[in-house]
Amino acid sequence: MITLRGRTVCGGIAIGTAMVYRREDNIIKRYHIDSIEAEIERFEKARCQAVAELEKLYTETVDEVGEMSAEIFGIHQQMLSDPDYIESVKNIIANEMINAETAVGHTCDSFMQMFESLSNAYMRGRAADIKDISERIINILEGRDPRAVNANAPVIVLADDLSPSETVQLGRETTLAFATEGGTSNSHTAILARMMNIPAVIGAEGVCSYGFDGRDVIVDGTDGTIYIDPDEETLARLQKRRDEYFRKRESLSCLIGKETVTADGKKIALHANIGNVFDINSVIANDAEGIGLFRSEFLYLESCDFPDEETQFNVYREVLEKMEGKKVIIRTLDIGADKNVSYFHMDDEKNPAMGIRAIRVCFEHRDWFKTQLRALYRASVYGDLSIMFPMITSEWEIDEIFKITDDVKNELRSEGVKFSENVSLGCMIETPAAAIISDDLAKRLQFLSIGTNDLTQYALAADRTNPHIGRYCDYSHKAVLRLIYTIVQNAHKNGINVSVCGEIAADPDRTQTLLALGVDGLSASPGMLLPLRGEIRKTDISAVRDKILSEILN
Ligand code: PEP
Ligand code: MG
Repeated sequence: MITLRGRTVCGGIAIGTAMVYRREDNIIKRYHIDSIEAEIERFEKARCQAVAELEKLYTETVDEVGEMSAEIFGIHQQMLSDPDYIESVKNIIANEMINAETAVGHTCDSFMQMFESLSNAYMRGRAADIKDISERIINILEGRDPRAVNANAPVIVLADDLSPSETVQLGRETTLAFATEGGTSNSHTAILARMMNIPAVIGAEGVCSYGFDGRDVIVDGTDGTIYIDPDEETLARLQKRRDEYFRKRESLSCLIGKETVTADGKKIALHANIGNVFDINSVIANDAEGIGLFRSEFLYLESCDFPDEETQFNVYREVLEKMEGKKVIIRTLDIGADKNVSYFHMDDEKNPAMGIRAIRVCFEHRDWFKTQLRALYRASVYGDLSIMFPMITSEWEIDEIFKITDDVKNELRSEGVKFSENVSLGCMIETPAAAIISDDLAKRLQFLSIGTNDLTQYALAADRTNPHIGRYCDYSHKAVLRLIYTIVQNAHKNGINVSVCGEIAADPDRTQTLLALGVDGLSASPGMLLPLRGEIRKTDISAVRDKILSEILN
């Protein structure tokens, strides 16, 4: 038996036969051309054909696996219409008098390099999309059929890498799982695997060996392990775990439509965390009662330049409309530290997590902040909007925020633009300072939401991005739990609700603790909502509260 390890991007366990798939290395023939116009026309024709192919794929995928999985083809169509990409290809054709496929190849290389150099993991993942769209045009120009990952019988695909379009073309009936050597967990390939619910592991060195073709394989998407030729003991163990996993998943669907209420009758708000509008389908499928955290910075991270007011307004409006009157909490721009893009031109800082990030960026750049607030207030008439501010440490920041939101509302009034007067304002509690002064914050705001990811990092002096200090960055640490207790007491004393939207909220093993501490709501990634609802419905707070609190507080 051979055991290989990678990173899991989608849970579940699959047992089957391996099909090894290596992407062909396209060798592009370079040659000189006589007519620039004719070559640019050739490129344009191929580009339009690529857009048409993607349109067809989009429609087919919507029918087969739903709009959300198909979205990637919409994004690829947009990328193929990107003026910078098109101009780069045309400039290379004109300046170097070379053929279109070579110009596309060069453009692909430089755009990929640009994306790969970005510090943001999501944006680095976009390099794979650039490669995908460029290969599509080159295939058309060279008259090649794109390779498809096809199998007649159910298989487990072991690949060096998979592009998003290859991933989505994996036959649903015939693909039990996939494991790749390359890939990042934020790439669209990973996102699609989660949407399609196929067990998937990436970054598994050595998995794409031709020698594995046709052999027995197990992909354990729950811990990122791949077993080639599993021995009897491993096979029996994993079969048992697979059956348990299916049983558990099936039993969860019966929770759809059920109330999120504890066994002793406390109603808990169960909300979803999202990063963009495409996540809404899964929010609805998992029966979220609202959006507890829309990380609006993803809108910025996905763009090559500041999203303007209109672009932001359209996104916020769509989210509010799709949520049909359910609560939607949108967090204002939380950029800085590990979330950064070049067009922000932020100064290098020695300690960026403690530097100009989140609300501090917005105070430094009022115009960015006001653009976002205008878009938010304009969208507010389309649903139940709350606005949340990140990285608060002091009361003066709340004064400043109120001044700016008042300015924005007055501006809109004077322009005759409609907005809702009922937008609630709240803040994240993600610094020890905010936790300690949560009494004062609760007096001035309408809700608090505890961001345990940052609260843990700042309370325990443990960088959340440093893999070497994982054991120090523990959200179950007594210090963090005591801070949560203080925040809840202060919120309730002032008659407002408090929820948790950091990763501890998504951990069913911590649900009882959070409920005992008195939180009113949990917000987590859509896929975790039903397990959390199950946990909440099982919990009798009155029965466990004293014991849990005495362990934390004494
Ligand atoms: C948090 O800090 O807990 C949080 C939810 O915000 P983010 O993870 O985006 O920093
Ligand atoms: Mg945070």
